[in-house]
Amino acid sequence: MEKAPAKLNLLLDTPFHHADGSEEWDMVLTSVDLADLVTIKTLGRNGRIKVMTDTGFLPNDRRNLAYQAAALLANTYHRKEAVNITIEKHIPVAAGMGGGSADAAAVLRGLNRLWSLNLTPAQLCELGLKIDADVPYCVWSQTAHVTGRGEQVEPLPELPPMWLVIAKPQTSVSTPSILRQINYGRLEHASTPHLLAAIHASDYDGICQATANVLTPITARRYPVVQRLKTQMLRFGADAAEMTGTGPTVYGICRKRSRAQRVANGLAGFCREVYVVRPVRLGAAVQLSEAPCSTED
Ligand code: ATP
Repeated sequence: MEKAPAKLNLLLDTPFHHADGSEEWDMVLTSVDLADLVTIKTLGRNGRIKVMTDTGFLPNDRRNLAYQAAALLANTYHRKEAVNITIEKHIPVAAGMGGGSADAAAVLRGLNRLWSLNLTPAQLCELGLKIDADVPYCVWSQTAHVTGRGEQVEPLPELPPMWLVIAKPQTSVSTPSILRQINYGRLEHASTPHLLAAIHASDYDGICQATANVLTPITARRYPVVQRLKTQMLRFGADAAEMTGTGPTVYGICRKRSRAQRVANGLAGFCREVYVVRPVRLGAAVQLSEAPCSTED
């Protein structure tokens, strides 16, 4: 079984867009201990890929990013085995937490091991980019500076001790609909060097000051709940509060668990889906070989 942890954007910026319309990213991402569980089995030789989830509303066919990951590896490396993928979903869907990308990355890691492909994290990232911009990061799933179209992942040191409160409003946000509204002339860019310096110095306060998301005003204009949640998190005692990805999920940062719990309790009246989590480091895909995946021929 592979753990597929959710990601949060400690920073999200886009300096420009490429001629093909895709965004250049400048992001600092971290992963948290809220994870989908992905079980992968290879059996027989009929080449069929099957995805099952426990949600009832996610697609089970090639629209599922986990399916796409298996198909991509099978086609690229001419593998004929059938692949059965079971996803136990814990990450909220369409929430800016990269759930689909995390599942896809878990399948890339799992099949890389099951099929003894010996692909390096860089190779898995290159493949992952063909699925979604967040997949390369999810291959690593540890705090990292991500640039390019999402394929340049530079792992960062472990974060200082902290607790994160995650609040997912009822509304789901379509990522493309937010990205279409970016006006590059008007973006107020974030200060990535400040955040990177704070992380390297293990400076908790510096991290809190430097978290930023240039897309927050765009999402918050359409979904006022985003700004409301940020304000409430700070009011209940979080040291920083920001939106992740294109939203609508908002997270707050606290030094102590008791404070995080207080913030979570305070939010209970405003938001039904609230989690108290910690950053996790899955580490490079190459270090994941202990996690058992099963092969049945
Ligand atoms: P991103 O910001 O990377 O677009 P997100 O974190 O906001 O993603 P996801 O939970 O990845 O959102 O879901 C985005 C869309 O991807 C959903 O509409 C969903 O139907 C589709 N999807 C495909 N495969 C999966 C999967 N395995 N898990 C969740 N969503 C999936």
